[in-house]
Amino acid sequence: MTEAGQSPERAPERAAEGAAERDAAYMRLALEEARLAAEAGEVPVGAVVVAGGRVVARAGNRTIAANDPTAHAEMEALRAAATALGNYRLTEAWLYVTIEPCAMCAGAIIQARIARLVYGADDAKGGAVRSCFRVLDHPRLNHRVEVTPGVLGEECGAMLKDFFAARR
Ligand code: ZN
Repeated sequence: MTEAGQSPERAPERAAEGAAERDAAYMRLALEEARLAAEAGEVPVGAVVVAGGRVVARAGNRTIAANDPTAHAEMEALRAAATALGNYRLTEAWLYVTIEPCAMCAGAIIQARIARLVYGADDAKGGAVRSCFRVLDHPRLNHRVEVTPGVLGEECGAMLKDFFAARR
């Protein structure tokens, strides 16, 4: 027991709970971006970049509005984060995104040297982290990205499902 009366073996557990709460809080911001994208008629995917414990960029999909096939939420957020930080390397940054990134975005994550990727739902039809391809953990890559999948996964997946269901 420490002098504060806390059991030391409980500390890692509490830290894990704190980390999970923090991840969920940032994912809710990404979900908010996804919601805004849906309202604009875009596929509802949202992303947030966190560096030094603060949000440096947040964005939703805007491929239709921008007439740009590369304007995925992750790409938009990475660009905005790099501009905000004045650096094309985001080595300290964490990227939160509602859906498992595609091959293009996984490539951009490596180019940006993102330290950690947190995502919501798996994308069985194009996910490039573990569903269709495993872009981030190819043995030839020098850069390693820490990945945490499944954060608010049901909510993130449901938003996408509802969107496509409503369009049918
Ligand atoms: Zn993408």
